[in-house]
Amino acid sequence: MAKPIVKCSVSNCSFWGESNQCRADAIMIEIDQHANANYNAEFAGEGFDSEHQDVADKSSSTCCHTFKPKKH
Ligand code: SF4
Repeated sequence: MAKPIVKCSVSNCSFWGESNQCRADAIMIEIDQHANANYNAEFAGEGFDSEHQDVADKSSSTCCHTFKPKKH
């Protein structure tokens, strides 16, 4: 089965690649209790923007448990 294209905004993840695409072979997603609140605050009226970029300190700051910070 073909792998899905994962669009991701966490630009400082070591799996993050061009066009905001995740290059990991598998990703682990967990529930995010704040997902709805964040969604409403950040994207209200704009619709979801798959091109925006963010940075995260650790995987618990993201919805993705496969997140691994890039080495600097
Ligand atoms: S945070 Fe997750 S989805 Fe985003 S690039 Fe990293 S591993 Fe992929």
